[in-house]
Amino acid sequence: MKNIVVIGAGYAGILTAKKLEKKLRKHEDINISIIDKNPFHTMLTELHEVAANRVEEDSIRISLKKVFAGRKVNVVMDNITKIDFDTKKVIGEEKTYSYDYLVLAAGSKPTYFGTKGAEEFSYKLWSYDDAVILKDRIHEMFRAAACERNIEKKRKLLTFYIVGADFTGVELAGEMAEYAPILCDQYEIDRNLVSIYDVDILPRTVPILPEKLSDKVEKRLTKMGVTVKLNTGVVGIGEDFIELKSGDNVTKHVAGTVVWTAGIESSDVTKNASEVLESAGRGRIKVDKFLRTLDREEVYVV
Ligand SMILES: Cc1cc2nc3c(=O)[nH]c(=O)nc-3n(C[C@H](O)[C@H](O)[C@H](O)COP(=O)(O)OP(=O)(O)OC[C@H]3O[C@@H](n4cnc5c(N)ncnc54)[C@H](O)[C@@H]3O)c2cc1C
Repeated sequence: MKNIVVIGAGYAGILTAKKLEKKLRKHEDINISIIDKNPFHTMLTELHEVAANRVEEDSIRISLKKVFAGRKVNVVMDNITKIDFDTKKVIGEEKTYSYDYLVLAAGSKPTYFGTKGAEEFSYKLWSYDDAVILKDRIHEMFRAAACERNIEKKRKLLTFYIVGADFTGVELAGEMAEYAPILCDQYEIDRNLVSIYDVDILPRTVPILPEKLSDKVEKRLTKMGVTVKLNTGVVGIGEDFIELKSGDNVTKHVAGTVVWTAGIESSDVTKNASEVLESAGRGRIKVDKFLRTLDREEVYVV
């Protein structure tokens, strides 16, 4: 019996397991397992829609049992802590799994580039739980603001900073700008008291886009009431403030909520593996054109 183990049931892991199963279905001697720490797949690309209440929380998570129903794939819930490439074993909190072929598809996690207070005081948007926590936070701020008589305190509660103006940041800023009037109606708050900022150190939004489209994104957000601050770095975040750096100038601003969307790095299990396998730096692993690691021909990274 040959064991194929896929770690991670995100977009990459699911597609890999499905395609392999389709191709190898008739081989009785092949066993495919997909392991994830959650019993569901999270549609990460829709998280901002949950945070701003456009869609129901449960609409962005899909049971893995359902995804693989009728397919010869074992769905396993476990958190993988280590991989032993010499003995070909994947070590989880629940069990150890032997593999003949391994596909590492464990995704990524936010990275803070050592920014003071960022990890402690900002909200993130990189998992189902993050989206639900952020949604609750936004509501909590409007609820508290509705009962606040002091206008400065009210403004602070209603001040939202999004750090990062790449896809995740601008999508969240857009969603929040559309959600703000709904919440203002619900809590009887003047929309002019709500401030939404999107801050990025780069000179334009979503730099992967052609310059013309980046400009369009910026104009559209501005029209929706978002203040887009480009060429602006974030150097510190605290419980109720954010420090911005523009040129040599550092300024401190009140902030009710800061959301960090400014960068990602490999998930822990991949980062650990990158210390053993040939690495491409910063927790990434070098692969060939088949996504196979350079050190171990039975190990793939997607
Ligand atoms: C708000 C938002 C909007 C986005 N919009 C777009 C878009 O429009 N277009 C686009 O192309 N991309 C978009 N992205 C990026 C896209 O979501 C990611 O590139 C994609 O999810 C990566 O897929 P993946 O399978 O590599 O990893 P993931 O989707 O992160 O999946 C990794 C899986 O591995 C599991 N896992 C991790 N570590 C372990 C472990 N130790 N043990 C067990 N399981 C583990 C996780 O639970 C997870 O299920 C967006 C992201 C966000 C957050």
